[in-house]
Amino acid sequence: MFTTEFLDLPALDTAHGTVSLPGSKSISNRVLLLAALSQGTTVIHDLLDSDDTRVMLAALRQLGCRIAPDAVVPGQAIEVTGIGGQLPADAAATLFLGNAGTAMRPLTAALAVLGGSFEMTGVPRMYERPIGDLVDALRQLGCRIAYLGNEGFPPLKIGRPDFSRFGQAPIQVRGDVSSQFLTSLLMALPLQAGSRDIVIEVVGELISRPYIHITLELLARFGIAVKNENWQRFVIPAGSRYRSPGEIHVEADASSASYFIALGAIATGMADTADADNATGRKSIRILGVGRDSIQGDIRFVEAARAMGAQVESGPNWLQVARGEPGQGWPLKAIDLDCNHIPDAAMTLAVMALYADGTTTLRNIASWRVKETDRIAAMAIELRKLGATVEEGPDYIRITPPASRADWKAASIHTYDDHRVAMCFSLAAFNPAKLPVRIEDPKCVAKTFPDYFEALFSVCQTERERIPVICIDGPTASGKGTIAAEVARALGYQLLDSGALYRITGLAASRAGLALDESNEETIAEMALDMPVRFDAQQRVWLGDEDISLAIRSEQAGMNASRVSALPAVRSALVDLQLAFQTLPGLVADGRDMGTVIFPHAPLKVYLSASAQCRAERRYKQLISKGISANISTLLADLEARDARDMQRATAPLKPAEDALLLDSSELTIEQVVAQVLSWWQERQPFGRA
Ligand code: C5P
Repeated sequence: MFTTEFLDLPALDTAHGTVSLPGSKSISNRVLLLAALSQGTTVIHDLLDSDDTRVMLAALRQLGCRIAPDAVVPGQAIEVTGIGGQLPADAAATLFLGNAGTAMRPLTAALAVLGGSFEMTGVPRMYERPIGDLVDALRQLGCRIAYLGNEGFPPLKIGRPDFSRFGQAPIQVRGDVSSQFLTSLLMALPLQAGSRDIVIEVVGELISRPYIHITLELLARFGIAVKNENWQRFVIPAGSRYRSPGEIHVEADASSASYFIALGAIATGMADTADADNATGRKSIRILGVGRDSIQGDIRFVEAARAMGAQVESGPNWLQVARGEPGQGWPLKAIDLDCNHIPDAAMTLAVMALYADGTTTLRNIASWRVKETDRIAAMAIELRKLGATVEEGPDYIRITPPASRADWKAASIHTYDDHRVAMCFSLAAFNPAKLPVRIEDPKCVAKTFPDYFEALFSVCQTERERIPVICIDGPTASGKGTIAAEVARALGYQLLDSGALYRITGLAASRAGLALDESNEETIAEMALDMPVRFDAQQRVWLGDEDISLAIRSEQAGMNASRVSALPAVRSALVDLQLAFQTLPGLVADGRDMGTVIFPHAPLKVYLSASAQCRAERRYKQLISKGISANISTLLADLEARDARDMQRATAPLKPAEDALLLDSSELTIEQVVAQVLSWWQERQPFGRA
């Protein structure tokens, strides 16, 4: 997951390949609550691991459910042992539900019916998301719920219900604000359907029916057969009782699929058709985990995407998408669509509209205004930043793409702590003007798809020159390694520690018993070509199955690196390995010839220096802190000697690239040096300062 302040997406060209999507948030949280209310243990496969499911799991644990293992482990099922429809008489808890509507609403209903002493809390945005209609419906039944803040909004206090005055009258609930209110009642009221039917009546138009469909399908899996009378009345039969199905699979999220369906519709495949994915020889995007048989309403996004020109094929749990031929689906066709049935995925249509041949209107989307943020306003503001003309109304949005390539603008997209804003705007990186797109606060995707950007990068390609590289070099002990790592972390870029590659080569060659000189130049170069080197996310270095992070850091290893790095054949053997680090979204490369030989076109090259005295003192402190005794004047003499050798050597001598910016760090802290490099970087971006 990218936890940086912002993530800059280079302009993207093509996309092809396969993505496996994470489990659906809506299904995950419903299944968790149903399993929690049931008697017995439910084994849940493919549960989504996200902010919203984590708050749900934590709440259920607080309520006494046994959950094993403690957290979602990829590839492993999670077991939930339910409360069997009852809580202890003295049940009490304060539950923190973050910004998860799928946890707040259904849990409020279930706990209000079960009774106890509960406080339902969340983040500030949660306190702006309405819940009054659900509370009103529950109060008809005799539930006791009080508002702790603003009337009609969380936080809430829940007490013990008094069902004595509740007769046969149907429970009424508004259907036109959020379908989660009805879902919540449908999941809570079976707990009260002992000796009589319970009838729920929808007042006003029922929005987002597809989500009710998911609720009904899942209730059936847990033993509750609700009668659906034309989406207006729902009858929970007397004697209904939650029963665990024993085992259940969570489908992948159909709303998440929308970004990759759109990607397939917008991007061309690769130019080379040799190993094409389908019969027509066109490369495409294949999506696994959700398909034709999905119970999720957002799967109907496929119809909208087809209407805009996408070529979509599907199977039971897969989709395959390709862009239409020029004139038949490309550019995309503008549409005028009632999106009530696909409220979340419709945001993706708003970004697809940037690539359409006219004005697209998305209607009946008033629910956007009460989601994670006011999504109509947010989409309008951000689409305009890219150069689109946007008109917004209470329940619609109308988008006209930039008139020509020249009208596109490089934008820094504000994401409003809304995962879907972040994900759908990533598609703007396919703009014909080839401008980069900045996504602010990229970690907000954690709500439903923590590894969204990794998944995106895994199927997208762009010209090598567009993937930015920052080169950092400097003499020994100048701090270039530390600075490069910090800059890479701040930007979410890959890090190439080229010195490590020479250290590994030196280690491998000396282990093979080779003298590290010209006599073995070709042999060592051949070894370097085939080294099974791997850097992991924790910056550990692996040679095959062996963790050699420590072994390559010794003084001896540094010396050996210096020797093998002076052999031209070794240097050229390592070129391809180094080039392979230039991957999306960008790279920080540290070392000798990064800016001159390997990445000569890097848009920023920094040459770090510091006085020999200062570097000797830094190295001294470093050694002392590791408990290694040292002497400043010896260190100083060594450094000066090494500088002289490094600058005079014939192969890759130490000297700044001609276009490198010099930075003397003698008087600066690490933070100041990093800030300076980042500020030079910002100056080169078209977005202005973040
Ligand atoms: O940066 P580090 O100390 O790990 O580098 C070890 C040695 O490898 C350096 O002293 C230098 O001689 C060599 N080197 C090189 N070209 C690079 C990186 C390191 O010649 N790109």
